[in-house]
Amino acid sequence: MKKENITTPFPIENEREVERALRPKTLGDFVGQNKLKENLKVFIEATRRRGEPLDHILFYGPPGLGKTTLAYIVGRELGTDIIATSGPALERPADLAGVLTRLKNHDILFVDEIHRLGKVIEEYLYPAMEDFSLDILLDSGPNARCIKLKLSPFTLVGATTRSGLLSSPLRSRFDLTFRLDFYAPEELSSIVKRSASLLGVEITEDASLEIARRARGTPRIANRLLKRVRDYAEVKGEGKITNDITQYALSMLDVDDCGLDEMDKKILMTIIKKYDGGPVGLSTLAASIGEEEDTISEVFEPYLLQEGFIKRTPRGREATSLAYRHFGIVKRGQSTMELQNP
Ligand code: ADP
Repeated sequence: MKKENITTPFPIENEREVERALRPKTLGDFVGQNKLKENLKVFIEATRRRGEPLDHILFYGPPGLGKTTLAYIVGRELGTDIIATSGPALERPADLAGVLTRLKNHDILFVDEIHRLGKVIEEYLYPAMEDFSLDILLDSGPNARCIKLKLSPFTLVGATTRSGLLSSPLRSRFDLTFRLDFYAPEELSSIVKRSASLLGVEITEDASLEIARRARGTPRIANRLLKRVRDYAEVKGEGKITNDITQYALSMLDVDDCGLDEMDKKILMTIIKKYDGGPVGLSTLAASIGEEEDTISEVFEPYLLQEGFIKRTPRGREATSLAYRHFGIVKRGQSTMELQNP
């Protein structure tokens, strides 16, 4: 078991199967993101009444917050089928033509990691999104001919963790754009309780809150922690997940008190140790830790900003006193007393 993976927001090996089982199937079961749910409900109801396909939707936000889940929920609420694929899987125009021509009236095409679509595929997608047609080029050179293929009206649901990487022509073709936010501990706690009941394991209120608190605002991590804690409860306890067993399991798994993962820690420690707390520019920071700028700013930074570990200033990123306290490091000019009595 690779411990450092447990709080990463990205799916880890073999996780998909369990994720499918725990995935809420209706908007009613989907916890949190209330404003987004209200809006979706209205748009779904309105299109259902008009008998039209739903406008194309883009879900964006950090990994593990429910973008894929929502795509399937939209399909279910509309009573249509969904074909799921991803940006990197659509390599050639023929791949795209293959999925588009399989779509029936008002079906959903879900494209995960849509920011990774190739330029050429994007060009083919525009007429498909705009007037449900596909221009196919037959032959090449002097014999080249273009034929227009009529498609069934469909809804494209795109998901991305990196909205900044989406080209503006593609972005502008989505009529509905929704951003997913991190979840509050109380919301994650209800997700944990719901998942525990689906997994058939008993959990106390305080234990579910403890898991929620350390899940980095992310349902995927909350569910993952729950499954690992359940293992400890079965082997070391009597099967029920109590607060004691949770505390023990999370400390054995090296889960940070705030749920920070390896990359979060690397970002913070680099700012603190290498740049004396900052400010440090994003590109310099990215080069120092060997990660892409966009990944830092769109995947890791939002949670660190929300929790107050870093702040963005015009001159770059700065580690806050909370970050120093979290690692027990004394900031230059800060007294040890201050560290001990935050
Ligand atoms: P994303 O596509 O944003 O990476 P997913 O939709 O795959 O995230 O969600 C990851 C897991 O978290 C799923 O297994 C799902 O069960 C759970 N999950 C996500 N959002 C919610 C929610 N609002 N309520 C309950 N479970 C959720």
